[in-house]
Amino acid sequence: MRNSNNAAATLWLAMLVAGRGWAQAPVKQAPPEQLSPAAAQWWADISALADDRMEGRLTGSSGYLRAADYVISRLRSEGLHPAGVYGYLQPVAFEQQVVDQAASSAELVSMDGTSTPLHIGEDALIGATGAARPPYVNAPMVFIGYGLHLPQQGYDDFADLDLKGKVAVVLSGGPAEISGSIKANARFARSRLLAERGAVGLISLTTPHQVEIPWTRLKLLSSQPGMYLADPTLRDVKDGFFVATVDPEKSELLFKGTGHTFAELCAVADASKPLARFELPQHIRAIVVAQREPLSSPNIVAKLPGREPKLAAQYVAISAHLDHLGIGEPINGDRIYNGAMDDASGVASVLDIAHQLRSAANRPRRSILFVIVTGEEKGLLGSHYYAVHPTVPQGSIVADLNLDMPLPFWPLKSIVALGDGESTLGADARAIASDRGLTLLADPLPDHNIFIRTDQFSFVREGVPALAFWFGYAPNTPEFQLVVHWLNTRYHSPSDDLLQPGIFKEDAVKLDEFVAALALQVADADIRPDWLPTSIFRRDLTH
Ligand SMILES: [Zn+2]
Repeated sequence: MRNSNNAAATLWLAMLVAGRGWAQAPVKQAPPEQLSPAAAQWWADISALADDRMEGRLTGSSGYLRAADYVISRLRSEGLHPAGVYGYLQPVAFEQQVVDQAASSAELVSMDGTSTPLHIGEDALIGATGAARPPYVNAPMVFIGYGLHLPQQGYDDFADLDLKGKVAVVLSGGPAEISGSIKANARFARSRLLAERGAVGLISLTTPHQVEIPWTRLKLLSSQPGMYLADPTLRDVKDGFFVATVDPEKSELLFKGTGHTFAELCAVADASKPLARFELPQHIRAIVVAQREPLSSPNIVAKLPGREPKLAAQYVAISAHLDHLGIGEPINGDRIYNGAMDDASGVASVLDIAHQLRSAANRPRRSILFVIVTGEEKGLLGSHYYAVHPTVPQGSIVADLNLDMPLPFWPLKSIVALGDGESTLGADARAIASDRGLTLLADPLPDHNIFIRTDQFSFVREGVPALAFWFGYAPNTPEFQLVVHWLNTRYHSPSDDLLQPGIFKEDAVKLDEFVAALALQVADADIRPDWLPTSIFRRDLTH
């Protein structure tokens, strides 16, 4: 799953505050040592992919290619057909951008010429993703509240503002009455929409209560290379658009001379109330030092041909991402970001599902497509490329079922199937769940942007109904606390590795059985899935 700087969830933040100092999560540990063949294979696949030898599987790295070789050997051993461009591979061309935070600089300049330094790499971080950053920016700033452009919902932070030549400053969160998925979608489109209105940059601020990854760890992650697709028409941000984020502890500096304080605005945002919008009297002046170079990294695609000649030309996609964060800044002496849960576990689950489907008594009527993507951590790039340039005919993918760190940390009793309120896949998932004595729960973090932070969103953008799956949990439960604790301590850090305790391996493959049964149901149905009439994803969201 991708980082997010502008997450917002009242429950989440309450748990974050309450959760400080938890040494141990209060859910029982230790799955049995004797594993079923499926669970043993699932763990063996994770063990291979999250081994130090794979060096954290950074997009474009040799470690990623070694992991790709492993996945291909497993797909081949399951008897699945290659469905890429070259065998199982679909090459994807990227540009990599490394921002030298220490060599970059910024200052806030008042009307009277006084300047306040904003130390890049310490107080503020320049983003390396989305597009090429400009070498230089010198622009007035305007605070545009949450920066959400939702005219159809009667809410528009862009209304009546002149954004031309300005850097927009936004705060995390959004009005409570608008659904999480709608807000998430508006955040996704924000930079592009701002650029279309002439803005030259975006500075994202986060209220201290809504911080997901602490600033000290964000600083460590800022040395990571950013990437975007080599094809400029597939980038979601315009080249030359400035993107930065500021330490919540330093964000007050931006509001000097406005009559507003950051603290006051945070209180409003934490209460999900409407935010004021106003010009900031200081300019931002910044110099960005960055190196860029081309690189290539493949998606991996295999198929199980459907049994019915007519329907076999349609595909149910099952996806997960193979890439992770590679080798980075050390934490507790460990530099390898193994990504055992994120997302070696999802890839292992796709392999497990592939094994189940190809071993089924009857092959599915439609074909099944197994799509293992690259570039997820860099902005859902491999899946975006795949959804726009599928290796099967355009329009033939009827659904995508995605697995991105489902977090099997307790016995499987319920499932969160994100997107279940958007398409007919929701009813299918509910039926399959109840057959198995499982319940489908609502998204426990509706304001956490998760729907746009995992790869199924790339398919959704191209009109394909999709779901993404997690072990279910409700707010304010021990399971919820366990997830929060894991995100705070292991997510996107070197300790998401093979030594972490508390993985419920047998329950993980139970989730795979559920997804396999759902895939089979969708593949065998007479009609293909469709968006619900009420879904905002029914239409093309990218324009
Ligand atoms: Zn991730």
